Amino acid sequence: WADVVITALRDRAGKLVGFGKVTRDLTERTRADAERQALEREREARREAEELNEEVRNQAAHLEEQAVELEALNEEMRLANEELDERTREAEAANRAKSDFLANMSHELRTPLNAILGYVELLTMGIPDPATEAQKEQMERIRGSGEHLATLIDDILDLARIEAGRVAVEHAHASLPGVVDTAISLLTPEVEAHGLTLARHCDDGAGIEFIGDALRVRQIVANLLSNAVKFTHQGGRITVSCDTARGPGPSAHLRRPGPWVRVRVEDTGIGIAPEQRETIFQPFVQVETGRTRTHGGTGLGLSISRDLARLMRGDITVESEPDRGSCFTLWLPGVGPGAAGE
Ligand code: ADP
Repeated sequence: WADVVITALRDRAGKLVGFGKVTRDLTERTRADAERQALEREREARREAEELNEEVRNQAAHLEEQAVELEALNEEMRLANEELDERTREAEAANRAKSDFLANMSHELRTPLNAILGYVELLTMGIPDPATEAQKEQMERIRGSGEHLATLIDDILDLARIEAGRVAVEHAHASLPGVVDTAISLLTPEVEAHGLTLARHCDDGAGIEFIGDALRVRQIVANLLSNAVKFTHQGGRITVSCDTARGPGPSAHLRRPGPWVRVRVEDTGIGIAPEQRETIFQPFVQVETGRTRTHGGTGLGLSISRDLARLMRGDITVESEPDRGSCFTLWLPGVGPGAAGE
């Protein structure tokens, strides 16, 4: 049995040797596979890195091109801006020259006109010789036309001065009812001549004061009143009121907070169509109806009035209904806490 055991053991040993060899072969092959895969991965990673590098290089080149284009564009824009500045300077100079010319021209026209009006007055007064009634009538017509021409010249002079920035307005305290009354008394003859009635609603006891230029405020109110007279049919009514207000109303261009005072000139006249309520404030603009032309004018009054109001840090607004009437409101900076009433 010893032989049998030895043979069995030898068999087993032989098998073990064979198994060991298979295991070694397997291990060898696994290692080789792993090395090959690692190499493959490395190659792949290198290829990807190279591709990435190439892309970065391309992007950098593209960016550089864009930077050059941007620089060229910047330069173009700088040149365009310079040209625009130059054109603006030229336009401003031309505008100043126009305003200066208008201001000088108006002044030159005013001087001989003053002489004409002065001599007509002397002749009417019978100097050097007494005039007949017929002559006086003719001279009254010369005077009327002369006054009209003087108003037109004054308007153009005002506009030119405002445009040239040569109008300085006072910012002084003044009584609103007092200034309104002066304007009313200037226009009363016209109101009566046109068969209109005029009502005044100003609380004299309230001591309503504004900050501005009394002469300019009188000019504005007189202009609004003159328009109300011109554009209201005989038998119509004009109402002038002055009061204080906290809010300036949505359409007014007022920057500072209240208090505000306002003068409202309301009429029962022909009114203004909605699409013309802004354009009538532009120089030389008149609503083109037969009635407007009948009443003449230059279309400068409202433009000048609003410019003056804004120079005094106020404004003019309008509400109107065609065939029912209009209401123009002059807003001015008020004085003291009493003005913040509304
Ligand atoms: P002008 O009175 O010399 O024509 P304005 O600038 O004062 O110039 O007015 C411009 C235009 O606005 C007038 O021609 C008229 O058409 C219109 N307008 C002004 N005030 C009134 C008003 N109270 N009622 C109707 N229309 C008016």
